[in-house]
Amino acid sequence: MKKASTYFRTRHSLGHEVLHNWWGNGVYIDYESGNWAEGLTTYQADYSFLEQQSNDVAKGRRLEWLRDYAALPPERDRPSRTFTSKTHAASQVFGYNKVAFLFHMLRRQLGEQVFESALRRFWREQRFRIAGWNELERAFSEEAGRNLSVFFDQWLDRTGAPEISFAKVAKSRQEKDAWILSLEIKQSEPSYQLQVPVQVLTTKGPVERLIPIKGTHTPVEIQLSAEPIELVADPDFHLFRRLVSGEAPPTLRDTLLSGQTQTLVLEGSTFQQQGLALARAMLDSSLQSNSTLEPEKPFLLIGPSSEVDTFLRTHKLPGMPEELAVPSSAQVWARRTPQGQPYVIIAANSQASLEALLRPLPHYGRRGYMAFQGSKAVIKGNWPLSKSGILYRFP
Ligand SMILES: [Zn+2]
Repeated sequence: MKKASTYFRTRHSLGHEVLHNWWGNGVYIDYESGNWAEGLTTYQADYSFLEQQSNDVAKGRRLEWLRDYAALPPERDRPSRTFTSKTHAASQVFGYNKVAFLFHMLRRQLGEQVFESALRRFWREQRFRIAGWNELERAFSEEAGRNLSVFFDQWLDRTGAPEISFAKVAKSRQEKDAWILSLEIKQSEPSYQLQVPVQVLTTKGPVERLIPIKGTHTPVEIQLSAEPIELVADPDFHLFRRLVSGEAPPTLRDTLLSGQTQTLVLEGSTFQQQGLALARAMLDSSLQSNSTLEPEKPFLLIGPSSEVDTFLRTHKLPGMPEELAVPSSAQVWARRTPQGQPYVIIAANSQASLEALLRPLPHYGRRGYMAFQGSKAVIKGNWPLSKSGILYRFP
Protein backbone atom coordinates (compact mmCIF):
# COMPACT_ATOMS: atom_id res chain seq x y z
CA MET A 1 0.00 0.00 0.00
CA LYS A 2 1.42 3.34 -0.99
CA LYS A 3 1.68 5.92 1.71
CA ALA A 4 -0.17 9.19 1.23
CA SER A 5 2.03 11.70 -0.53
CA THR A 6 2.94 14.73 1.57
CA TYR A 7 1.12 16.65 -1.04
CA PHE A 8 -2.27 15.67 0.26
CA ARG A 9 -1.47 15.38 3.92
CA THR A 10 -4.54 17.01 5.35
CA ARG A 11 -3.87 19.70 7.84
CA HIS A 12 -6.79 18.83 10.08
CA SER A 13 -8.14 21.45 12.37
CA LEU A 14 -8.20 20.95 16.10
CA GLY A 15 -11.99 20.88 15.82
CA HIS A 16 -11.72 17.89 13.53
CA GLU A 17 -9.70 15.97 16.10
CA VAL A 18 -12.07 17.01 18.89
CA LEU A 19 -15.11 15.89 16.93
CA HIS A 20 -13.57 12.44 16.56
CA ASN A 21 -14.37 12.07 20.29
CA TRP A 22 -17.93 11.65 19.06
CA TRP A 23 -17.48 10.16 15.61
CA GLY A 24 -14.90 7.41 15.80
CA ASN A 25 -14.08 7.33 19.52
CA GLY A 26 -17.65 7.71 20.82
CA VAL A 27 -19.51 5.84 18.13
CA TYR A 28 -17.07 3.31 16.73
CA ILE A 29 -16.63 2.73 13.03
CA ASP A 30 -17.78 -0.53 11.52
CA TYR A 31 -14.92 -0.81 9.04
CA GLU A 32 -16.55 -3.78 7.32
CA SER A 33 -19.42 -1.62 6.14
CA GLY A 34 -17.44 1.53 5.44
CA ASN A 35 -16.02 4.53 7.26
CA TRP A 36 -18.66 7.27 7.57
CA ALA A 37 -16.78 9.10 10.33
CA GLU A 38 -14.18 11.02 8.31
CA GLY A 39 -16.75 12.61 6.01
CA LEU A 40 -19.10 13.48 8.86
CA THR A 41 -16.26 14.92 10.93
CA THR A 42 -14.99 16.91 7.95
CA TYR A 43 -18.47 18.31 7.39
CA GLN A 44 -19.26 19.15 10.99
CA ALA A 45 -15.84 20.50 11.95
CA ASP A 46 -13.71 21.74 9.06
CA TYR A 47 -16.58 22.74 6.78
CA SER A 48 -18.79 24.29 9.41
CA PHE A 49 -15.96 26.60 10.52
CA LEU A 50 -15.85 27.92 6.98
CA GLU A 51 -19.60 28.37 6.97
CA GLN A 52 -19.28 30.47 10.10
CA GLN A 53 -16.78 32.69 8.28
CA SER A 54 -19.08 33.36 5.33
CA ASN A 55 -21.28 31.73 2.72
CA ASP A 56 -18.74 32.57 0.06
CA VAL A 57 -15.93 30.81 1.87
CA ALA A 58 -18.13 27.73 2.36
CA LYS A 59 -19.12 27.81 -1.31
CA GLY A 60 -15.43 27.96 -2.19
CA ARG A 61 -14.80 24.78 -0.22
CA ARG A 62 -17.66 22.95 -1.96
CA LEU A 63 -16.20 24.00 -5.30
CA GLU A 64 -12.78 22.69 -4.18
CA TRP A 65 -14.35 19.34 -3.36
CA LEU A 66 -15.96 19.20 -6.79
CA ARG A 67 -12.75 20.39 -8.38
CA ASP A 68 -10.83 17.58 -6.65
CA TYR A 69 -13.42 15.12 -7.87
CA ALA A 70 -13.07 16.43 -11.43
CA ALA A 71 -9.31 15.76 -11.15
CA LEU A 72 -9.84 12.15 -10.09
CA PRO A 73 -9.45 9.81 -13.08
CA PRO A 74 -12.50 7.48 -13.34
CA GLU A 75 -10.37 4.36 -12.95
CA ARG A 76 -9.24 5.55 -9.49
CA ASP A 77 -12.77 6.33 -8.31
CA ARG A 78 -14.45 3.97 -5.79
CA PRO A 79 -17.88 3.86 -4.15
CA SER A 80 -17.73 5.80 -0.88
CA ARG A 81 -19.16 2.85 1.04
CA THR A 82 -15.93 0.95 0.31
CA PHE A 83 -13.78 3.63 1.94
CA THR A 84 -12.18 2.48 5.20
CA SER A 85 -9.13 4.67 5.71
CA LYS A 86 -7.06 7.12 3.74
CA THR A 87 -4.23 5.43 1.92
CA HIS A 88 -3.65 7.97 -0.85
CA ALA A 89 -5.08 11.23 -2.09
CA ALA A 90 -7.62 9.53 -4.32
CA SER A 91 -9.23 7.95 -1.26
CA GLN A 92 -9.55 11.36 0.33
CA VAL A 93 -11.70 12.42 -2.59
CA PHE A 94 -14.33 9.67 -2.23
CA GLY A 95 -13.82 8.94 1.50
CA TYR A 96 -13.78 12.47 2.95
CA ASN A 97 -14.94 15.02 0.41
CA LYS A 98 -17.74 13.12 -1.27
CA VAL A 99 -19.08 11.88 2.06
CA ALA A 100 -18.97 15.40 3.51
CA PHE A 101 -20.91 16.48 0.42
CA LEU A 102 -23.47 13.74 1.06
CA PHE A 103 -24.14 15.24 4.50
CA HIS A 104 -24.41 18.68 2.95
CA MET A 105 -27.09 17.52 0.51
CA LEU A 106 -28.89 15.66 3.29
CA ARG A 107 -28.96 18.75 5.47
CA ARG A 108 -30.35 20.84 2.64
CA GLN A 109 -33.04 18.27 1.83
CA LEU A 110 -34.15 17.61 5.39
CA GLY A 111 -33.61 21.03 6.92
CA GLU A 112 -31.41 22.03 9.82
CA GLN A 113 -33.66 20.71 12.57
CA VAL A 114 -34.24 17.23 11.21
CA PHE A 115 -30.57 16.95 10.29
CA GLU A 116 -29.47 17.75 13.82
CA SER A 117 -32.05 15.59 15.54
CA ALA A 118 -31.04 12.65 13.33
CA LEU A 119 -27.42 13.03 14.39
CA ARG A 120 -28.47 13.31 18.02
CA ARG A 121 -30.54 10.13 17.64
CA PHE A 122 -27.61 8.35 16.03
CA TRP A 123 -25.39 9.40 18.93
CA ARG A 124 -27.97 8.38 21.55
CA GLU A 125 -28.60 4.98 20.00
CA GLN A 126 -25.07 4.06 18.98
CA ARG A 127 -22.85 5.55 21.65
CA PHE A 128 -20.03 3.13 22.55
CA ARG A 129 -21.23 0.73 19.91
CA ILE A 130 -19.90 -0.13 16.50
CA ALA A 131 -22.09 1.50 13.88
CA GLY A 132 -22.12 1.59 10.11
CA TRP A 133 -23.89 3.34 7.30
CA ASN A 134 -27.08 1.32 7.90
CA GLU A 135 -27.44 2.72 11.42
CA LEU A 136 -26.87 6.24 10.15
CA GLU A 137 -29.41 5.79 7.38
CA ARG A 138 -31.93 4.44 9.89
CA ALA A 139 -31.49 7.41 12.23
CA PHE A 140 -31.99 9.86 9.36
CA SER A 141 -34.98 7.97 7.93
CA GLU A 142 -36.66 7.85 11.36
CA GLU A 143 -36.26 11.56 11.93
CA ALA A 144 -37.22 12.48 8.37
CA GLY A 145 -40.29 10.24 8.58
CA ARG A 146 -39.46 8.60 5.25
CA ASN A 147 -37.23 5.97 3.78
CA LEU A 148 -33.96 7.49 2.58
CA SER A 149 -32.45 4.38 1.05
CA VAL A 150 -32.47 5.75 -2.51
CA PHE A 151 -30.54 8.77 -1.33
CA PHE A 152 -27.93 6.80 0.60
CA ASP A 153 -27.55 4.09 -2.04
CA GLN A 154 -27.07 6.46 -4.95
CA TRP A 155 -24.31 8.38 -3.18
CA LEU A 156 -22.58 5.46 -1.47
CA ASP A 157 -22.74 2.55 -3.88
CA ARG A 158 -21.84 4.22 -7.15
CA THR A 159 -18.75 5.76 -8.55
CA GLY A 160 -19.18 8.81 -10.71
CA ALA A 161 -21.43 11.80 -10.32
CA PRO A 162 -24.43 13.19 -12.17
CA GLU A 163 -23.83 15.45 -15.13
CA ILE A 164 -26.63 17.97 -15.51
CA SER A 165 -27.65 20.02 -18.54
CA PHE A 166 -30.58 22.01 -19.92
CA ALA A 167 -32.45 21.11 -23.11
CA LYS A 168 -35.49 22.38 -25.04
CA VAL A 169 -35.56 25.73 -23.29
CA ALA A 170 -38.46 27.93 -24.43
CA LYS A 171 -40.46 30.84 -23.11
CA SER A 172 -43.98 31.95 -23.83
CA ARG A 173 -45.99 34.93 -22.74
CA GLN A 174 -49.41 34.13 -21.28
CA GLU A 175 -50.56 37.65 -20.59
CA LYS A 176 -48.96 40.96 -19.79
CA ASP A 177 -46.94 39.94 -16.71
CA ALA A 178 -47.19 36.19 -16.90
CA TRP A 179 -44.54 34.09 -18.56
CA ILE A 180 -43.98 30.37 -18.74
CA LEU A 181 -40.48 29.02 -19.01
CA SER A 182 -40.39 25.42 -20.16
CA LEU A 183 -37.33 23.22 -20.35
CA GLU A 184 -35.92 19.78 -19.73
CA ILE A 185 -33.32 19.06 -17.11
CA LYS A 186 -31.18 16.26 -18.43
CA GLN A 187 -28.71 14.10 -16.58
CA SER A 188 -26.31 11.35 -17.48
CA GLU A 189 -26.93 7.62 -16.85
CA PRO A 190 -27.28 6.20 -14.24
CA SER A 191 -29.68 8.89 -13.13
CA TYR A 192 -29.92 10.28 -9.60
CA GLN A 193 -32.79 11.67 -7.58
CA LEU A 194 -31.79 15.28 -7.08
CA GLN A 195 -33.16 18.61 -6.06
CA VAL A 196 -31.61 20.98 -8.54
CA PRO A 197 -31.42 24.67 -7.62
CA VAL A 198 -32.21 26.71 -10.72
CA GLN A 199 -31.73 30.45 -10.85
CA VAL A 200 -33.66 32.33 -13.54
CA LEU A 201 -32.63 35.86 -14.35
CA THR A 202 -35.69 37.84 -15.49
CA THR A 203 -36.18 41.44 -16.58
CA LYS A 204 -37.29 42.12 -13.00
CA GLY A 205 -34.41 40.34 -11.26
CA PRO A 206 -33.46 36.80 -10.28
CA VAL A 207 -35.90 34.05 -9.27
CA GLU A 208 -34.80 30.82 -7.57
CA ARG A 209 -36.49 27.44 -7.77
CA LEU A 210 -35.61 24.06 -6.36
CA ILE A 211 -36.57 21.42 -8.90
CA PRO A 212 -36.80 17.73 -8.01
CA ILE A 213 -35.61 15.48 -10.80
CA LYS A 214 -35.18 11.76 -11.37
CA GLY A 215 -34.56 9.91 -14.59
CA THR A 216 -32.48 11.20 -17.46
CA HIS A 217 -35.04 13.75 -18.75
CA THR A 218 -37.28 15.81 -16.49
CA PRO A 219 -39.68 18.25 -18.17
CA VAL A 220 -40.15 21.42 -16.14
CA GLU A 221 -42.46 24.43 -16.35
CA ILE A 222 -41.73 27.53 -14.34
CA GLN A 223 -44.26 30.34 -14.03
CA LEU A 224 -42.74 33.78 -13.92
CA SER A 225 -44.02 37.31 -13.53
CA ALA A 226 -41.39 38.73 -15.91
CA GLU A 227 -39.59 37.72 -19.07
CA PRO A 228 -36.72 35.25 -18.51
CA ILE A 229 -33.27 36.20 -19.87
CA GLU A 230 -31.02 33.38 -18.72
CA LEU A 231 -31.02 30.41 -16.40
CA VAL A 232 -28.29 28.61 -14.53
CA ALA A 233 -28.35 25.33 -12.60
CA ASP A 234 -26.69 24.93 -9.22
CA PRO A 235 -24.71 28.20 -9.36
CA ASP A 236 -23.63 27.81 -5.72
CA PHE A 237 -22.40 24.21 -5.92
CA HIS A 238 -24.89 22.57 -3.58
CA LEU A 239 -24.94 19.30 -5.55
CA PHE A 240 -22.24 16.70 -5.84
CA ARG A 241 -21.92 16.64 -9.62
CA ARG A 242 -19.54 16.73 -12.53
CA LEU A 243 -18.42 20.26 -13.16
CA VAL A 244 -18.81 21.54 -16.68
CA SER A 245 -15.66 22.73 -18.40
CA GLY A 246 -15.78 26.42 -17.48
CA GLU A 247 -16.23 25.50 -13.82
CA ALA A 248 -13.06 23.45 -13.68
CA PRO A 249 -10.01 25.48 -14.75
CA PRO A 250 -6.74 23.52 -14.52
CA THR A 251 -5.02 22.98 -11.18
CA LEU A 252 -1.89 21.01 -10.29
CA ARG A 253 -4.06 18.25 -8.90
CA ASP A 254 -5.36 17.26 -12.38
CA THR A 255 -1.87 16.08 -13.25
CA LEU A 256 -0.83 14.83 -9.82
CA LEU A 257 -3.89 12.65 -9.21
CA SER A 258 -3.74 10.91 -12.56
CA GLY A 259 -2.19 7.48 -12.38
CA GLN A 260 -0.84 8.00 -15.93
CA THR A 261 1.32 11.06 -15.50
CA GLN A 262 4.71 10.98 -17.20
CA THR A 263 7.52 12.87 -15.55
CA LEU A 264 10.15 14.50 -17.68
CA VAL A 265 13.15 16.24 -16.15
CA LEU A 266 15.16 18.30 -18.63
CA GLU A 267 18.93 18.48 -18.69
CA GLY A 268 21.78 17.78 -16.28
CA SER A 269 22.19 15.01 -13.75
CA THR A 270 22.01 17.20 -10.63
CA PHE A 271 18.76 18.73 -11.79
CA GLN A 272 17.71 15.22 -12.65
CA GLN A 273 17.97 13.94 -9.11
CA GLN A 274 16.30 16.98 -7.53
CA GLY A 275 13.60 16.93 -10.17
CA LEU A 276 12.73 13.30 -9.61
CA ALA A 277 12.68 13.76 -5.83
CA LEU A 278 10.28 16.65 -6.24
CA ALA A 279 8.08 14.65 -8.61
CA ARG A 280 7.95 11.77 -6.12
CA ALA A 281 6.84 14.11 -3.34
CA MET A 282 4.08 15.55 -5.50
CA LEU A 283 2.60 12.64 -7.44
CA ASP A 284 -0.15 10.52 -5.92
CA SER A 285 1.03 7.41 -7.73
CA SER A 286 4.39 5.92 -8.54
CA LEU A 287 6.78 7.85 -10.70
CA GLN A 288 6.95 7.12 -14.43
CA SER A 289 10.02 8.86 -15.69
CA ASN A 290 10.19 9.42 -19.45
CA SER A 291 12.69 10.98 -21.79
CA THR A 292 10.11 11.70 -24.49
CA LEU A 293 6.44 12.50 -24.18
CA GLU A 294 3.49 10.38 -25.17
CA PRO A 295 0.96 12.96 -26.30
CA GLU A 296 -2.12 11.15 -24.98
CA LYS A 297 -1.00 11.23 -21.33
CA PRO A 298 -0.72 13.94 -18.67
CA PHE A 299 2.80 15.11 -17.93
CA LEU A 300 4.91 16.85 -15.33
CA LEU A 301 7.83 18.76 -16.80
CA ILE A 302 10.69 20.00 -14.64
CA GLY A 303 13.72 21.91 -15.82
CA PRO A 304 15.83 25.07 -15.97
CA SER A 305 13.79 28.07 -17.15
CA SER A 306 15.55 28.48 -20.51
CA GLU A 307 15.24 24.81 -21.43
CA VAL A 308 11.60 24.81 -20.41
CA ASP A 309 11.01 27.71 -22.83
CA THR A 310 12.60 25.81 -25.67
CA PHE A 311 10.66 22.67 -24.85
CA LEU A 312 7.33 24.50 -24.83
CA ARG A 313 8.10 26.20 -28.14
CA THR A 314 9.11 22.90 -29.74
CA HIS A 315 5.89 21.28 -28.56
CA LYS A 316 3.78 24.29 -29.61
CA LEU A 317 2.57 24.93 -26.08
CA PRO A 318 2.16 28.42 -24.60
CA GLY A 319 5.09 29.85 -22.62
CA MET A 320 5.18 31.02 -19.03
CA PRO A 321 1.93 32.84 -18.15
CA GLU A 322 2.08 36.63 -17.74
CA GLU A 323 0.73 36.22 -14.22
CA LEU A 324 4.15 34.88 -13.23
CA ALA A 325 6.25 37.67 -14.69
CA VAL A 326 7.70 38.83 -11.35
CA PRO A 327 11.20 38.43 -9.88
CA SER A 328 11.27 34.84 -8.67
CA SER A 329 13.52 31.81 -8.56
CA ALA A 330 10.97 29.22 -9.72
CA GLN A 331 7.63 29.21 -11.54
CA VAL A 332 4.98 26.53 -11.55
CA TRP A 333 1.82 26.36 -13.62
CA ALA A 334 -0.94 23.95 -14.64
CA ARG A 335 -2.55 23.88 -18.08
CA ARG A 336 -4.23 21.56 -20.52
CA THR A 337 -3.01 20.66 -23.98
CA PRO A 338 -5.27 21.48 -26.93
CA GLN A 339 -6.29 17.78 -26.75
CA GLY A 340 -7.37 18.27 -23.14
CA GLN A 341 -4.51 16.50 -21.34
CA PRO A 342 -3.51 18.21 -18.09
CA TYR A 343 0.12 19.12 -17.51
CA VAL A 344 2.26 20.91 -14.96
CA ILE A 345 5.42 22.89 -15.67
CA ILE A 346 8.06 23.58 -13.03
CA ALA A 347 10.78 25.97 -14.17
CA ALA A 348 13.64 26.86 -11.85
CA ASN A 349 16.69 29.08 -12.28
CA SER A 350 19.05 26.79 -10.37
CA GLN A 351 19.31 23.47 -8.65
CA ALA A 352 19.03 25.20 -5.27
CA SER A 353 15.82 26.91 -6.37
CA LEU A 354 14.38 23.56 -7.34
CA GLU A 355 15.43 22.03 -4.06
CA ALA A 356 13.70 24.86 -2.19
CA LEU A 357 10.35 23.73 -3.63
CA LEU A 358 10.48 20.30 -2.09
CA ARG A 359 8.76 21.25 1.16
CA PRO A 360 6.26 23.94 0.14
CA LEU A 361 5.12 22.90 -3.33
CA PRO A 362 3.37 19.63 -2.43
CA HIS A 363 0.85 21.65 -0.39
CA TYR A 364 -0.36 23.73 -3.33
CA GLY A 365 -2.23 21.13 -5.36
CA ARG A 366 -5.39 23.19 -5.67
CA ARG A 367 -3.56 26.10 -7.28
CA GLY A 368 -3.37 26.90 -10.96
CA TYR A 369 -0.07 28.83 -10.91
CA MET A 370 2.63 29.97 -8.51
CA ALA A 371 5.95 31.79 -8.38
CA PHE A 372 8.49 31.13 -5.65
CA GLN A 373 11.41 33.08 -4.28
CA GLY A 374 13.39 30.34 -2.59
CA SER A 375 10.81 28.39 -0.65
CA LYS A 376 8.40 31.30 -0.30
CA ALA A 377 5.41 31.53 -2.63
CA VAL A 378 5.41 35.14 -3.85
CA ILE A 379 2.48 34.56 -6.19
CA LYS A 380 -0.20 31.93 -6.01
CA GLY A 381 -3.37 31.96 -8.01
CA ASN A 382 -6.11 30.09 -9.77
CA TRP A 383 -7.22 30.39 -13.35
CA PRO A 384 -10.59 32.16 -13.44
CA LEU A 385 -13.87 30.28 -13.76
CA SER A 386 -15.40 31.13 -17.09
CA LYS A 387 -18.87 32.50 -16.64
CA SER A 388 -20.38 29.46 -18.27
CA GLY A 389 -21.60 26.94 -15.68
CA ILE A 390 -24.75 25.02 -16.55
CA LEU A 391 -26.14 28.00 -18.33
CA TYR A 392 -28.71 28.89 -20.93
CA ARG A 393 -29.04 32.40 -22.29
CA PHE A 394 -31.95 33.38 -24.54
CA PRO A 395 -30.73 34.76 -27.85
ZN1 LIG B 1 -10.30 12.49 10.75
